[in-house]
Amino acid sequence: MVDLPVLTLNSGMIPIDICRVRDAIVLQLLNKAAAIKVEQGKWIRSQYLSFALPRVITLFNYHKIPEKKVVYSRLNIIYRDDMRCMFCGKRFSMDQLTVDHLIPQSRWDALPPNKRPLSINSWENQVCACKGCNSIKGDRLLHECGLKLIRKPYEPKYLPHLVISKRKAEEYGWLEFLGYNVKVVDLIE
Ligand SMILES: [Zn+2]
Repeated sequence: MVDLPVLTLNSGMIPIDICRVRDAIVLQLLNKAAAIKVEQGKWIRSQYLSFALPRVITLFNYHKIPEKKVVYSRLNIIYRDDMRCMFCGKRFSMDQLTVDHLIPQSRWDALPPNKRPLSINSWENQVCACKGCNSIKGDRLLHECGLKLIRKPYEPKYLPHLVISKRKAEEYGWLEFLGYNVKVVDLIE
């Protein structure tokens, strides 16, 4: 039970993180946070203390929203594309998704610079693709395999601070606390 996730809000009630029950309890013991939502009837007990199982805590002295740069990463390409295959347009769970190089390594050097993005590993050369479409595409260029992009890839200016699965948010009672900086998705675990 101490490993269960707890939504952490800053002192302005903005969600900033997800911690574990054990961290949430330590923060409460140190008087740095309070549980504002607990699971009724479930308790974490030690020899001397018992705590209602926290689901949402708020920090007392932290009002900031930690800055989050949009880091170029495989995961962020998948989030940018909304967990949607950029070829067939369908959404998939994380384990069914890959990141495809539009211009693959094997073809990169043969193309003149004006026919390719600045870098092979870049926001402009990579898209989220389902395993099926990725294997159809293989090492070919788009016009050689008959696949079309549903949207041109781009460098995102903003990504949500937290990405949380809808199932988890419902199960732990977080929905009412989620604001503009949190993205709730259907499929991610
Ligand atoms: Zn696909």
